[in-house]
Amino acid sequence: EFTKTNYPHSRELFTVFRSTFGLHNFRPNQLETINAALLGHDCFVLMPTGGGKSLCYQLPAVISKGVTLVISPLKSLVIDQTEKLKSLDIPTAHLLGNMKPEEENIIFTKLCMSEPGLKMLYVTPEKIAASMKLGQILNNLHCRGKLARLVIDEAHCVSHWGHDFRPDYKRLGEFRQKYPDVPIMALTATATPRVREDVLHQLQISGTKLFLSSFNRPNLLYKVVPKKGKSAMAEIANLIKEKYKNQSGIIYCLSRKECDNTATYMCNEGIKAISYHAGLTDPKRNDVQMKWITNKVNLVCATIAFGMGIDKPDVRYVFHYSLPKSIEGYYQESGRAGRDGKTSHCFLYYSYQDMHRIRKLIELDDSGNHESKKVHMQNLFRIVSYCENKADCRRTLQLNYFGETFDDNKCISNKETACDNCQNKAAFKYIDVTEDSIEIVKTIKELCSSGGGSWNNNFTLIHIIDIFKGSSNQKIKTHNHDKLSLHGRGKQWDRFDAERLMHKLVLEGYLREEMVASKVDIINAFVRVGPEADKLIQGSIKLKLASASKNKL
Ligand code: ADP
Repeated sequence: EFTKTNYPHSRELFTVFRSTFGLHNFRPNQLETINAALLGHDCFVLMPTGGGKSLCYQLPAVISKGVTLVISPLKSLVIDQTEKLKSLDIPTAHLLGNMKPEEENIIFTKLCMSEPGLKMLYVTPEKIAASMKLGQILNNLHCRGKLARLVIDEAHCVSHWGHDFRPDYKRLGEFRQKYPDVPIMALTATATPRVREDVLHQLQISGTKLFLSSFNRPNLLYKVVPKKGKSAMAEIANLIKEKYKNQSGIIYCLSRKECDNTATYMCNEGIKAISYHAGLTDPKRNDVQMKWITNKVNLVCATIAFGMGIDKPDVRYVFHYSLPKSIEGYYQESGRAGRDGKTSHCFLYYSYQDMHRIRKLIELDDSGNHESKKVHMQNLFRIVSYCENKADCRRTLQLNYFGETFDDNKCISNKETACDNCQNKAAFKYIDVTEDSIEIVKTIKELCSSGGGSWNNNFTLIHIIDIFKGSSNQKIKTHNHDKLSLHGRGKQWDRFDAERLMHKLVLEGYLREEMVASKVDIINAFVRVGPEADKLIQGSIKLKLASASKNKL
């Protein structure tokens, strides 16, 4: 559908494509989207970053009568796009929060001309919500039949279920009621099926045409690396010096302090690194971006505030020194590597403890309601499961999350970019862990119920692993836990497998960790029985774990 080249608008479409934009071949789904838009349909475009979403609305804007209004949350991107379109001789302007009234008035005057002096107007959602004057001008344009189309970029921001909800986006739903005859195009690079549904619902565009492109990034190598305390930093520094000398990369960190510390460490190692986070002033942040884009520095150590809207093609590596907040977030952040199509590396340095740090942030955050905290927790558990997973293709895990099916063979077929799990497939085999899991859960049930006032029943997952492995450390002796039947049951187990089994039990709800308030930097998580425990104990569930243990279990 929509692939024809003999629509009434086709001739003009191709002329503009070649002469105005200077392009020759459409990328997947571009022509289809443009045709559908020019035929007056509402469109929902889901395309990976770098896929060429902008053209899908910019080209129709040039051909359509009147003004195309583009809502985009990213100031830097808005400014870049406006400059680029002006350089192509497409009359374009933007309205941002911090503009002077004189500057705004020039734009308003152009919009009020009988034939508007602009083809495209970019605005932030905040501006739409705040400016009465803009509202009046839009009404006026609409009355005169000069409002060509509403474009909502980064449309996932409309949804609470997404990773980047913005309250001002919510009001865009009113647009359809106000201007029922104006077509809407919503675009995003990240949306799970649930977010997709929600976006369409919020924007009240139900009969929309969907354009979904594959999200696979064949040139990216995904790998999860166990993060072992302080030595991880040295490991990363060595890797950068050996493999990516003078090449561009990003290390994502959790906190501002972590960004600063990482940058300092890397500089001391002779790597040209710089720190970036929300604590820097606007000019300073721009300065960091410029230095990186122009290759004056190679490495940015940043919080996830960095990277949105920056289009640097030759990023050779994106490392996560701290756990991402969701699979969607990870896809987006790691996706900043290799936009030029060349092989690039995405390594996630993972430690289970990082989950506790993020959990604490979610729990302390007062801005969200109970429901949104729950969503954040679910997202977090999904990315932890991804990291703990040793058996399934990383691409499949990510793409399934976006509702896309993917054939593992495609991953392994490219030796240079096959993910760690596909490469190590032979080393891991599934083992049945149902009986062990039941024993573990039962033991915790006993420990918790026998707590009473007199004895302390606050035990960490590490302590339970020690019991399972049959350790006889001081804490185990003090509590007589060497007398438990669970003690030593997993003596043969590799410790890494034992840890992953416990984590699995938490992630799947058979166990639960309770975060207990304590001193600022210390996080205590104590094990409790989880909501799914009874189902497991009753024997209605089978559990399997991909294990690397050489021992017979
Ligand atoms: P997205 O918004 O999906 O991340 P952009 O619209 O910014 O992607 O496009 C990414 C890059 O690809 C831009 O530099 C753009 O000029 C280029 N591009 C888009 N469409 C085409 C095309 N059909 N042929 C060649 N280059 C294209």
